[in-house]
Amino acid sequence: MIAALIAAVSCTTQKKEPVNPFFAEWKTPFGVPPFDQIKNEDYLPAIDSAIALARTEINAITSSTDAPTFANTIAAYDLAGQLLNKVAYVFSAQTSANTNDTLEALQEQVAPKISAFSDEVLLNAGLFSKVKAVYDNMANEKLTDEEKFLLENLYKSFVRNGALLSPADQEILKKLNQDISLLVVKFNQNVLAETNNYRLVIDNEADLKGLPEGVKTGAAELAKADSLEGKWIFTTQKPSMIPFLQYAENRELRKKLYDAYLNRGNNHNANDNNQILANLVRLRADKAKLLGYKTHADLVLETRMAKNPGNVFNLLDNLMGRSLPVAIRERDEMQKIIDSEGGKFRLEPSDWWYYAEKLRKSKYDLDENELRPYFMLDNVRDGAFAVANKLYGITFTRISDIPLPHPDAQAFDVKEADGKHIGVLYMDFFPRESKRQGAWCGGYRDHRVIDGKEITPVVTLVGNFTRPTGDEPALLSMDDVSTLFHEFGHALQALFSSNKYANTTVAWDIVELPSQIMEHWVTEPEVLNMYAKNYKTGEVIPQQLVDKIKNSSLFNTGFDNVEIMAASLLDMDYYSLEAPVNVDVQKFEKDMMKKIGLIPEIEPRYRSTYFLHMVSGYDAGYYVYTWAAVLDNDAFEAFREKGIFDRATADSFRKNILEKMGTMDAEQMYLNFRGHEPDIEPLLRNRGLN
Ligand SMILES: [Zn+2]
Repeated sequence: MIAALIAAVSCTTQKKEPVNPFFAEWKTPFGVPPFDQIKNEDYLPAIDSAIALARTEINAITSSTDAPTFANTIAAYDLAGQLLNKVAYVFSAQTSANTNDTLEALQEQVAPKISAFSDEVLLNAGLFSKVKAVYDNMANEKLTDEEKFLLENLYKSFVRNGALLSPADQEILKKLNQDISLLVVKFNQNVLAETNNYRLVIDNEADLKGLPEGVKTGAAELAKADSLEGKWIFTTQKPSMIPFLQYAENRELRKKLYDAYLNRGNNHNANDNNQILANLVRLRADKAKLLGYKTHADLVLETRMAKNPGNVFNLLDNLMGRSLPVAIRERDEMQKIIDSEGGKFRLEPSDWWYYAEKLRKSKYDLDENELRPYFMLDNVRDGAFAVANKLYGITFTRISDIPLPHPDAQAFDVKEADGKHIGVLYMDFFPRESKRQGAWCGGYRDHRVIDGKEITPVVTLVGNFTRPTGDEPALLSMDDVSTLFHEFGHALQALFSSNKYANTTVAWDIVELPSQIMEHWVTEPEVLNMYAKNYKTGEVIPQQLVDKIKNSSLFNTGFDNVEIMAASLLDMDYYSLEAPVNVDVQKFEKDMMKKIGLIPEIEPRYRSTYFLHMVSGYDAGYYVYTWAAVLDNDAFEAFREKGIFDRATADSFRKNILEKMGTMDAEQMYLNFRGHEPDIEPLLRNRGLN
């Protein structure tokens, strides 16, 4: 997932208030944030001042008596609000990966402020009339393609944000936006609290039967950190939960842990998200209606490659229809194992991982634990670097003397083959209570050009991978390796951006192309030979294991696809409701799963009350992973045709896709790279759904 950045506008000069590091020029290496100097109490005054400055800057545009031009209106607008961006990027990144009670309380103050200011700008009639004048006069100015694209999208974004509404309706819209922004913050905080509040504490070693040693050690260390020495703790964080579901022989405990995971935000306590989600869906439907759209999905899809809900449902229904029979076959195979072992029960959702693991062993003779020693975190990271080096010639050099967002983080200087600095890449791999779940790529500074001077990006890749335990280094699962390569793909895109202007418009359905295409390299034998080395012996992964990985590539594919389609459809269904909306979340979800024919042995990848994507940033947007999968499978075909490290193909991918993101039409970008429209066949074939 890519971190949703706070859309903000900007300003140039700043008067000195030396106590607050946001008001000073950052004299750190590459101008990264001086994390060690930023205190919790610096954020709010910085945001208040930054908003005031941005307001002055916007006023300068609107009060100008010169005829509106691209330079004095659009470029000036693009230059406004730099201080606000500077603060908001750090605030957003730190509240995601390094939060605390103070910052959480601050979020509830900051979110409505930013939302209100964003409305103030987008509903500024004087500013809109200037933007419209430049837009209407577009043919008479000599603009670059990037400038035309920026102008068109800026004009449309004003309209989509209510510029054409009556003043009374604009007031209603502002209130809706503020309420929505608060609900989003609350929903996220509740999920974090629910995740942190649950512990499966085991005090009887017999209940650990079946678990690999590394998993037991990790659980013992978690318990020790919680002053429960001699016991074992498992949490609903995936690196802790999934191995337990895969290997623990105690069926009751597997069910207990999985149920805790499934019910996060649905425990009728102070962190319950049922009503919050219901309100959010209602308000988003109201907002869409106010803006003249049938539903929230219609509103957000207008600027995407998918264009409308019908196209999204076509894709998802097609894949759901193809995946369900495969998942049912997988379920039946697992039931056979249960029956043959004399188990007198039907497979349940919490059993899936355990029997899938048995199936993997019996069918492909592959044990995940055999692989882990070859996937030491540092080796995998270096493998990702090596792949990028072979494709694009770029290098990654560790920087030791630079402020870090957290002591766990690492920093790298990313350079072109000729040594030119491209940007800084932070990597922050391990779970902690102050970090939200999952993995993502965000940033502290985006690429742009000001007065001919290139501003280089500062990117951060955040994960929740297994920590080193005892004397064992961090050893990843196959899934973790894919996740790391995935986020690294987002990082490459951010690093390669060549946009001149800060305001870019990315069709959300192509956002996951740069990330998902990287996952294809992970299991290529040539690539495994580059990075999969035994952490003890340094021995390269044996050919028979490489063969097993290849042979098992379709393992559990029915399940993987069904759970993703179910979640994608759940998201689309909520946002395809027409106002006035009044949903009972639990009932809606249940009815909807029935409607799509989901089998009772599988739950959607995310249930409603902890479906973070659907709430922040990927609303009517979880489908984009699947949409982009059509693109990434078809795009990787281009590499297959010419060679997976073919430099000409890589150059074209960089030039046409990675560098252009947000500065031109996504369909055109894809056509320029591939020479034809995306073809769904490679996806169906690679997922065994053809
Ligand atoms: Zn992603």
